[in-house]
Amino acid sequence: MTNSAVNTFAEISSYSRIINFNLCHKHPAAMFTRRFSVIYFLVAFLSILAIAALSEEKGVQSQKRAEEAIAVMKEAANVDKNFNVVLAPTVRYVHLLIDAELGEIYIVVDCDFIDKVSDDELLFLIGHEVSHIALSHLAKPDKAFATKEAEADFNSWKLMKEKLGKDFDAVAFVKKWLPQEQARIGELEALIESYIKDTT
Ligand SMILES: [Zn+2]
Repeated sequence: MTNSAVNTFAEISSYSRIINFNLCHKHPAAMFTRRFSVIYFLVAFLSILAIAALSEEKGVQSQKRAEEAIAVMKEAANVDKNFNVVLAPTVRYVHLLIDAELGEIYIVVDCDFIDKVSDDELLFLIGHEVSHIALSHLAKPDKAFATKEAEADFNSWKLMKEKLGKDFDAVAFVKKWLPQEQARIGELEALIESYIKDTT
């Protein structure tokens, strides 16, 4: 390589580097992408804020619905105890937790599940948990789990019928959400059947 050839090469390469530099920063396409990537970022960020605000609002509404159902079913069952609501994702269905030491009762509700049930279905579910307390089920460890579940379902159904004047299809509801609990469903059907026989 001659000296001038080296110089020309150096000139070309620095020239092309300048061109490349300019292309990256000043090309209309690059400017467009950069400007819009800022807008995309802002839109994404604002969407996250909106979703967070909406889920918080949804959480507050779910909590309110659960608390209202508890108030109604506590009165119907004549249970004068404090029930704390715990909304938690992925717990599925509704659960009763009792802290015997502190004497606190918790109703744990799946926050996605609560949106899938109607107000009457929620009353039935909450009535079931309140009925466990009303029927002192915790003091009966020898009683079969399926029997206690059926009794709580039946009691909730009865409270809705007698105190709230609601004809709720408890069997269909339990069958829909807990089809695997055959023994419970069978006992619940029998309890409702004999109730109807006795009252008609
Ligand atoms: Zn139960």
